[in-house]
Amino acid sequence: DRCSSRHPETPHDKLLGGLLSPDIDEQSCFSRYKSSMFRKPSPFSVSPYLVEKLRKYEELHKKCGPKSDLYKRAIDQLNSGQNTDKAECKYVIWTQINGLGNRMLSLASTFLYSLLTNRVLLVELTTEMRDVFCEPFPGSSWQLPPDFPIKNLLLKYGTDSPESYTVMLKNKTIPGDSNIRPESLPSLVFFNAVAFNWRMENHLFCEDDQKILQKINWMVVKSDGYYAAALFLLPAYRNELRRLFPVKESVFHHLGRYLFQPANPVWNIIERFYRTHLINSDEKVGLQIRQFREEPIPFEDVYNRIIECSETENLLPKLDQLNHDNSTPIIDKRISVLVLSLSSEFYDMIKAMYYEKSTVSGEMVAVYQPTHEREQDSQAKFHNQKAFAEMFLLSYCDKIITTATSTFGYVAHGLAGSKPWVLRTLNRLMKEPGPACVRSMSVEPCLHSPPIIECKENVRIDPTEVEPYLRKCDDAPPMGLKLY
Ligand code: GDP
Repeated sequence: DRCSSRHPETPHDKLLGGLLSPDIDEQSCFSRYKSSMFRKPSPFSVSPYLVEKLRKYEELHKKCGPKSDLYKRAIDQLNSGQNTDKAECKYVIWTQINGLGNRMLSLASTFLYSLLTNRVLLVELTTEMRDVFCEPFPGSSWQLPPDFPIKNLLLKYGTDSPESYTVMLKNKTIPGDSNIRPESLPSLVFFNAVAFNWRMENHLFCEDDQKILQKINWMVVKSDGYYAAALFLLPAYRNELRRLFPVKESVFHHLGRYLFQPANPVWNIIERFYRTHLINSDEKVGLQIRQFREEPIPFEDVYNRIIECSETENLLPKLDQLNHDNSTPIIDKRISVLVLSLSSEFYDMIKAMYYEKSTVSGEMVAVYQPTHEREQDSQAKFHNQKAFAEMFLLSYCDKIITTATSTFGYVAHGLAGSKPWVLRTLNRLMKEPGPACVRSMSVEPCLHSPPIIECKENVRIDPTEVEPYLRKCDDAPPMGLKLY
């Protein structure tokens, strides 16, 4: 089927059904108004309630954000160490860990948390994260100001920090009583949503604990994953979440397109590459091959599984194995194959396939790989900018093939709003019997290790039995949690 990508300049809905505010200057962020012109319209409509909520959030952010009088007042209150119940503005500060994909999933989750709890989201942007995203909120900034009294939050807060909510519970610095007066609480709390700690920290997703947390005016969050899915476990938020996202699998798709606009240097890379290599193709097939360092698998084995997946699912154009002389008519269908990987081997192998042999149906196939960075280097700005550019380019593909459990892949198909084919083969899953890849049943990212919910002593709740749309991930069994 002819796809629309040969005519990408047709008028498009720049504001994505009201998701984006028109109040951000185009020059400051070209991608904001241009990035959707290379993408098919979203399969998920934006609920009017979400639009209303976002506009209200933007007002709140303007009122309470950096440089506002209320922000200065909140800083004075933080410095005093005294919590108060009179605060007009409450804050949640996001700090980063792991690679860019993990960071984006946890940041989107934290934004959702701030929408649900009426907190203002501030982001500790270290140097390597600047000039990756545009400012998302009109008339203000999400960047934690450099004169914030606590420095280097990322390193300061960890599992044993006295500011951690669960440490405070354990030490009885605060009682686990949701009727506690706000004045008796500290002015800042650390919400440790790193999956690794969840086995010990099972109070973060309990109703009574959320009531206490909400009374504390400053919160610092650290997380490595898509804990947005776990917010659906809290009955108090569930109704609101239902209204915001009538289609459950559209949560990251909408939040991601709202929050993550490529900054101008990243957009330049994306637009240049797209116009040079992808704009004239009838079909774009994107292939993200993530090899996890801790579980290396020989290139040849991985390549064989990619081909197996492609043949079973009809993804890459089939080769004419007999390579008949001139017997294959050239048909006017151009296919671009975008290969994303830290190594160049897969690109070389796939390019060679189409160089050495013709395709059964005579399509013209071009194979591209924008970079091969060899090593993950998430502390380097240009490396992150290129990674984000590639996630975006992958999100423009008509068929998206990703690697199981990779958050890089989750971001790409989430932004696209499409269900990927997931290669089950590139890590330990390879040793399990089954097909080389599966078509995911949901557009959503997977929360790899959901929290253990034990709000009442000895009463454990299985997260996959709370609501029918919360189920095990199809790409990361047996523990993961995903919205369907
Ligand atoms: P995950 O580890 O696959 O879940 O994804 P993350 O994004 O969290 O971390 C992987 C990081 O490695 C990326 O953010 C990039 O910095 C780098 N990386 C991995 N694969 C690629 C790739 O195909 N292209 C580029 N440019 N970087 C990659």
